[in-house]
Amino acid sequence: MIDVERLSYTYPRSAGRAIDDVTLTIDDGDFVLIAGDSGGGKSTLVRAMIGLVPHFYGGAFDGRVRVAGRDTRTNHPRDLADVVGFVAQDPESQSVVDRVEDEIVFAMENLGADPPIMRKRLEETLDAIGLTSLRSRRLDTLSGGERQRVAIASVLAAQPKCLILDEPTSQLDPQSAEEVLSLLQRLNADLGLAIVLVEHRLERVVQYAHRMIVMREGTVVDDGVPRDVLQRGTVATPLSRVARALSWEPLPLTLREGRTFARTINTRIPHRADIAPTGDVFIDVKDAGVTRGGNEVLKRVTFAARAGETVALVGRNGSGKTTLLRTLVGLLKPHRGRRTIAGMDPSKASVEAIAK
Ligand code: ADP
Ligand code: MG
Repeated sequence: MIDVERLSYTYPRSAGRAIDDVTLTIDDGDFVLIAGDSGGGKSTLVRAMIGLVPHFYGGAFDGRVRVAGRDTRTNHPRDLADVVGFVAQDPESQSVVDRVEDEIVFAMENLGADPPIMRKRLEETLDAIGLTSLRSRRLDTLSGGERQRVAIASVLAAQPKCLILDEPTSQLDPQSAEEVLSLLQRLNADLGLAIVLVEHRLERVVQYAHRMIVMREGTVVDDGVPRDVLQRGTVATPLSRVARALSWEPLPLTLREGRTFARTINTRIPHRADIAPTGDVFIDVKDAGVTRGGNEVLKRVTFAARAGETVALVGRNGSGKTTLLRTLVGLLKPHRGRRTIAGMDPSKASVEAIAK
């Protein structure tokens, strides 16, 4: 479906090649994961697959990319939308109108679809992406994961055969990321939609992908089924590192697979006296409530941290992590409860006193 032939590409006013003699094909119905270090050329390669390179970026383009037989040098990205759809990192940068439904309709209008066909496709698309219950919602009331699903829906309204996504989960919390990735897996398995996915955290997707392409310095340095690529160690997940070090075979892709091996080794973690908190209570939060824009963001939060302790603060997007940190350093004031740092109220103490 996508045919990249000896592609080399250099951005305008740039010394080095971002893509250096790459040849590959993407087949119908495939699920391809593109991996590799930052700057390796992943984004540039997918931009070339949808015609943004060279049409939008300019630069020096050599070789040939064909999408469903159409040469991207003579076909504008708009003329490829019925074959390939593209979803970028940041869902907010992609939306044009306010409401979920309008966003999808807008995408179809742009392609010049007839109104009766548009209505039918809108229903089908909302259904396929599981957005029916959110159809009238304003986009700014949706979570990041829901926003990315809307972005996917508006691209799918053109009924492409292939969906190309450049780090679509990088701005999402783990749960929203999982929501988006399992949607991709379902679209691939149920509808036969080909997926080309650039993703940084490989452990989230290696179990879904049929094939993994690894890019480095503008070239393809590995290409194969994910288990083989991880076994070769061209790229690694936290689990594949452990598995290779302990010679687990076949190499496990998921934690569930890994657990079978883990049972056979002694996984008891020795007690580390040096990480046990022994110091005095340093941060003390009691029953703190913080309101922002009329919403109570922190509701009766109580916790303490001791000197020398390392605390990880985790939670979904919008759960209040940043608000809690801002409250601790005195940028926000609780309307109820209290918090002290080294016995001081950070709203009253000077920055210098807290920094000590
Ligand atoms: P990746 O997505 O794997 O991080 P990129 O395709 O973004 O890699 O980058 C490949 C090379 O192209 C890098 O050297 C990068 O600096 C360069 N590059 C990427 N985007 C642009 C751009 N818009 N203009 C100029 N150079 C760019
Ligand atoms: Mg990139």
